[in-house]
Amino acid sequence: SPPTVHTHTRQTATTKRQVRHTHRTPPTVTEQPPSRDWEDGHTRKGRRIHSQKQMPILVHVGFLTEESGDVFSPKVLKGGPLGEMVQWADILTALHVLGHNLKISMSVKELQGFLGVPPGRGSCPLTGPLPFDLIYTDYHGMQQMKQHMGLSLKRHKCHIRVIDTFGTEPAYNHEDYATLHGYRTNWGYWNLNSRQYMTMFPHTPDNSFMGFVSEELNDTEKSSIMQNKVNNMAVVYGKEASMWKGKEGFLQILHRYMEVHGTVYYETQRPPEVPAYVKNHGLLPQHELQTLLRKAKLFIGFGFPYEGPAPLEAIANGCIYLQPKFHPPHSSLNHEFFRGKPTSREVSSQHPYAEQYIGRPHVMTVDYNNSQEFDSAIREIMSTKVEPYLPYEYTCEGMLERVHAYIQHQVGSPLLASQEGQSCVEACQHANLVCEPALFRFVNNKEALRGLEVQCEVVEAEVNHVFPAFSVLRRECGLQKDPLLYSCAGLSPKYRRLCPCRDYRRGQVALCRDCL
Ligand code: UDP
Repeated sequence: SPPTVHTHTRQTATTKRQVRHTHRTPPTVTEQPPSRDWEDGHTRKGRRIHSQKQMPILVHVGFLTEESGDVFSPKVLKGGPLGEMVQWADILTALHVLGHNLKISMSVKELQGFLGVPPGRGSCPLTGPLPFDLIYTDYHGMQQMKQHMGLSLKRHKCHIRVIDTFGTEPAYNHEDYATLHGYRTNWGYWNLNSRQYMTMFPHTPDNSFMGFVSEELNDTEKSSIMQNKVNNMAVVYGKEASMWKGKEGFLQILHRYMEVHGTVYYETQRPPEVPAYVKNHGLLPQHELQTLLRKAKLFIGFGFPYEGPAPLEAIANGCIYLQPKFHPPHSSLNHEFFRGKPTSREVSSQHPYAEQYIGRPHVMTVDYNNSQEFDSAIREIMSTKVEPYLPYEYTCEGMLERVHAYIQHQVGSPLLASQEGQSCVEACQHANLVCEPALFRFVNNKEALRGLEVQCEVVEAEVNHVFPAFSVLRRECGLQKDPLLYSCAGLSPKYRRLCPCRDYRRGQVALCRDCL
């Protein structure tokens, strides 16, 4: 049965109907042309980021489907998980601007239509080739595809990318290993290549970092923001009243020095958790929130929600982000929120990315239980001047560059089978490509054999310089046991080899076409 839904987003989520009311909606792909800056595939700095090949791509947003249980529904206009919505909107936009041919599905019916599964035959496995080069989905979407594609999901697995906020570590992803060693959760064990999980922040290089985009400012905007900063104005990070519970102590200290603003959702009257001296604006539309952040000096987190986009937006608008340090760190071992998530990562503060990758002067991470430390942090913030700052990886260009590189290198490198007696050097050359030894580790597995529809009666890992390879006659398949023996040159008359190939620059074969 599908896993319980609420445990794998940053809070809860939303329905399709409500998505249309959020402040950042996905682009209507057919109607809206890319912005001027990107129209010819060049960045403002003149670099070309545009796909050479338009790929058919399906984006199936599993958590927005009714079939995922609809538990996300009631929350989005009440302070629900806008972070996830921001990320999906930015993924759709990036794929569109890069020039790909997108199909978007937000229901199982649409999914079936796109995959060519006849209506009313829910479990009929997809036959024939997959009509998409890539499918972006989430864990809910994976469950739905498993139900509706049946066995063919296995065959097409390498085309799937799972948008997975907090990430999935290899130990949780590997079904047999997870089962044997106690890493089995509601979510993991899909036996994907761990790079197929795409996270919201760069948690571990085992996964791919997808990210999202924050507003970037030009120099004039930056200096006008710095001139208009109100040194004693703070905005609280927390749009649900429950996030304010039990925080009276440090709110009091904060209020001694600063005017406190909030954007807490409410229906008719002030939520009791929000003290009377707080100027509560209610949930704000994006541009009004931006205006508020541009004036404020401090954006303050209370410990929840974890790892959202809002602190990056605040820092990009010239705020200093103050957040609690977690002693001990929160993780799936000691904290209810992370329990059952397929990662053992230790979360050292509300926003470890802000703490570790940005840091002072933009980010201060302090022990909130130590009121002296808290008090002096506030005073320091009021007297520190900072410029608006946005890490390159969260700009439009940074995201486009990354998504493009992933598509080029993770998809652009095909897996070929050589003929008997043919090396991978020759097999790749034959397709106008070049063998790339760095990619052997991605094809040295059963999934790759399955992808090529190889019939294996036995699969063995051996120290043999022609492996990974297979013998058609004996129906034997061999994987490489010693990575030092990965060889493009190796060949054997008995075996057809598994060859990872990539494209190359004419006159500079060491580099792939889009590597510069
Ligand atoms: N947001 C907004 N209005 C508000 C509060 C937040 O538009 O009053 C936006 C905010 O700019 C950000 C998104 O909601 O882009 C997600 O914010 P957050 O980091 O709180 O993530 P969440 O917890 O919603 O996933």
